[in-house]
Amino acid sequence: MKRVTIADIESDSGEIGIDRRRLSGPLNTTDVAINHYRLAPGTGFPGGLHSHMDQEEVFVVIKGEATFETLASGSDTGETVTVGAGEAIRFAPGGEFHSGANESDGDLLAVAIGAPPDSEDVRIPLECPECSHDDMRVRMDEEGVTFVCPDCDTECVPRACLECGREEMRFALAEENQAVVVCPNCSAEFDRPPLRDR
Ligand SMILES: [Zn+2]
Ligand SMILES: [Zn+2]
Repeated sequence: MKRVTIADIESDSGEIGIDRRRLSGPLNTTDVAINHYRLAPGTGFPGGLHSHMDQEEVFVVIKGEATFETLASGSDTGETVTVGAGEAIRFAPGGEFHSGANESDGDLLAVAIGAPPDSEDVRIPLECPECSHDDMRVRMDEEGVTFVCPDCDTECVPRACLECGREEMRFALAEENQAVVVCPNCSAEFDRPPLRDR
């Protein structure tokens, strides 16, 4: 048996307003990843719209309200779902894009569970420029981030924001619920992520 007190675990997020405590290490879990979050208003769970081909994710809301944007694979329009205290939401592996944030006025307390604990195959809702496959895989290595088509192996390298130069653009839903790319720094919006020539 392993028992932990969440208050005794240190947050490792490094971002203002985002308190993330990883329970998996202290609990010695082998088949599941568990993170406890306290998110200040206006912050969110890590990442823009993404899906895992090899991992299911569950979010349990303890206090406050979580707002998730979701987009089914191959669909042009997504939807926004609000999950309140005492509720939970699951995202199945494979092509169910999602992104969660605290858009309320108060703190959000939630537990995020992922199984298996590690995901090797993360996808974004970007159509392959070569073969039109409806998502691309995110590869992270010493060269940085590369988008790879799982079908034809075409590779694209994302550029920084064309407006402010910030890296790490995120997919999100725009007004009409279609997927766009948004800069987390200056909020500039693009229909497709700016890409670099290789
Ligand atoms: Zn392709
Ligand atoms: Zn920007």
